[in-house]
Amino acid sequence: MTDGSPTGARIAVDNPATGAVVGHVSEASAEEVAHAVARARRAQKGWAELDDRSRAEFFARGRRWLLAHRQEITDCIVEENGKAVEDAIVEIVYCASAFAYWAKQARKLLAKTKIRSLSPFVLGRSMYTRRVPRGVVGVIGPWNNPLLNSFGDAIPALAAGNAVVLKPSEHTPLTALLMERMVRECDWPKDVFQVVTGAGATGRAVVDTVDFVMFTGSTKTGRLVAARAGERLIPCSLELGGKDALVVLADASLERAVNVTIQGALSNGGQMCTSVERVYVEEPVYDAFITLLRERFDQVISGKPGALGSTHVGAVTFPPQLTVIEDHVNDALSKGARALVGGHSVKGPGRFFEPTLLVDVDHTMKCMREETFGPTLPVMKVADAEEALRLVNDSSYGLQASIIGSDMKRARALAERFEAGCVTINDAQTNYMALGLPMGGWKESGLGVRHGAEGIRKYTRLQAISANRFPMRRDMHMIPYEPSAYRFIVRLVDVLYGSGLRGRTK
Ligand code: NAD
Repeated sequence: MTDGSPTGARIAVDNPATGAVVGHVSEASAEEVAHAVARARRAQKGWAELDDRSRAEFFARGRRWLLAHRQEITDCIVEENGKAVEDAIVEIVYCASAFAYWAKQARKLLAKTKIRSLSPFVLGRSMYTRRVPRGVVGVIGPWNNPLLNSFGDAIPALAAGNAVVLKPSEHTPLTALLMERMVRECDWPKDVFQVVTGAGATGRAVVDTVDFVMFTGSTKTGRLVAARAGERLIPCSLELGGKDALVVLADASLERAVNVTIQGALSNGGQMCTSVERVYVEEPVYDAFITLLRERFDQVISGKPGALGSTHVGAVTFPPQLTVIEDHVNDALSKGARALVGGHSVKGPGRFFEPTLLVDVDHTMKCMREETFGPTLPVMKVADAEEALRLVNDSSYGLQASIIGSDMKRARALAERFEAGCVTINDAQTNYMALGLPMGGWKESGLGVRHGAEGIRKYTRLQAISANRFPMRRDMHMIPYEPSAYRFIVRLVDVLYGSGLRGRTK
């Protein structure tokens, strides 16, 4: 339904590792969303008028609250998402550092910029650009990282002087509600940050009312968000799906290659937009790589998250994802692939899929072309880096790609030929933690970036101001036109850009 569900509807949140219901949230109607956005719009004015230092002080309180409540937040993430404790801790570390980073950088990255021009038409003008908050930013998040991909994206939006209305995934809304509590307990200005819970209809209502949409989720929903934002003529930033590749070159350290591959493929249960979802290995090292990889895969502990170090791979968070993972594995096996490790879902309670290593795969198989989003990894032998490059780029996605190799010159040259918004060399995924480094997808993986200068500037409108400080009675280019003025302009342009310039450069 497009107008939101009736007020009072409730959504049950389950623990994917046990199947037990751990909470309920309300499903906000379109009307409730509109009220939240209206309140945010009123609150935003005062928030934008604060200087950067005052906003930074609120961020510092938020950071301290986050760290003081880390156990409670970790437990909440693990309970509603089913991931390993270590993966939940990464989300908290990210948000603590994001509070500090954006508080420090906002002022510099959003500062006024002086503009100069050589145009004879604007001689003597003083010109600058300034950045103005967009107003209310709607952040819509997925279920795989309930803190990092939801509240994490609200931080730079707030740092730029916007109010934020966050719509977390209906599958993992509880962590976002903890952040609403943080804001209350830290005495942030009322309504500057609000959470509205609900499913797709609530998300649509957010897109219908805010001034900018920061969306993280599937490519399918991203298209709907972009279409609606287009109708409303509001900008949006889309962080969508991926089918990230990793290439192992023959000169790679195999130990490093295997460790990076396992971490990239299995952290967060393989449920990362930047998960390594396909690997291409140069023929000379393929057998040795597979032997070591299989050995390490066998040592991976999968199951219900427990204390630190007890579980490496947690549950499958989203119920329908289990069917997708099974389908991709079965499709590959039916077309000639072999599962060296795993290959099956695990009987409940809870939703689990065995960490699975597939070989003898090719690009006719879904596991090499569609986003699997699970703890599975297909590995393919290639003749050389050129074949790997062709296969990496043979994808509708272009989020991230990785190379493992020791010849940096060769690895960098290859990286620059990948059709992906992010490329890591001898790493996978770690770039996400570098808040100064832009992160965004090409092709069907998204529009725009998070992080880096653009990651905060997108939350602002640009205003250009030009002032004629010494206004004359009239300019050269003013009606009635004077021929002598245009003969002068043409001569000047010729000197600056025409034959005069050519003459000088000869
Ligand atoms: P999803 O697209 O199903 O849902 C994402 C969010 O959109 C949810 O909050 C959902 O309620 C909301 N929504 C649904 N319909 C909507 C509509 N019509 N208008 C507005 N909002 C709507 O995605 P998901 O299954 O929650 O997340 C998994 C996907 O997210 C994967 O494809 C993954 O690759 C992607 N992802 C991308 C990044 C990135 O940075 N590129 C990061 C994390 C996850």
